[in-house]
Amino acid sequence: MSKPSMSKPFELSPLPYDEDALAPAISARTVEFHYHKHHKTYVETLNKLVAGTRYADMKLEQIVRTTAGRETEQEKKIFNNAGQVWNHDFYWRSLSPHASKPDGKLAQAIERDFGGLDALLKQFAAAGTEQFGSGWAWLVSSAGKLSIAKTGNALDPMARHTNCLLTVDVWEHAYYLDYQNVRAKYLEAVIGKLNWEFAAENLASEDHPVRAAA
Ligand code: MN
Repeated sequence: MSKPSMSKPFELSPLPYDEDALAPAISARTVEFHYHKHHKTYVETLNKLVAGTRYADMKLEQIVRTTAGRETEQEKKIFNNAGQVWNHDFYWRSLSPHASKPDGKLAQAIERDFGGLDALLKQFAAAGTEQFGSGWAWLVSSAGKLSIAKTGNALDPMARHTNCLLTVDVWEHAYYLDYQNVRAKYLEAVIGKLNWEFAAENLASEDHPVRAAA
């Protein structure tokens, strides 16, 4: 969604479906807390942090890329909140209440790079389970080649210019109400909700980048 420049503050992106649409994989109560409390707080905190700074007129992606790896406490805070806003926007769009399957170029790439969808999903769930502490599991592409990645806390592959196709949030707040400490069960359920149409759009966008120069 494009917005005119100088349109700060950042806004909480609309949830692309109803709060109960992902149940039982993710309950309405989890979505309510995750979206209306956690995600919203990252947006509000980011707006407070960037007000009056050189980041106030940057696009979200540019803020993430500019502050990634910076050492000052203020830049770390901006990175963490900007990263989490981007990651959560991407997470909600990575999931869908409608069952989908990869097809076309995406299906071919999955066959070539993983040997099939089952192997991809197994690696994806393993990455999410193995991520130590808070973080994210990702399906990414580099020059069209697919791979699985995991990142800690607010970090995302986009910060290092890697093209992201899908993500799953593995912070405890994403699953604790539904699965308590059993992250693997959450991952097992949530990989059935992945939005393969969104993944295909993101794979195609690597060939035709529309992103602003960072
Ligand atoms: Mn989260």
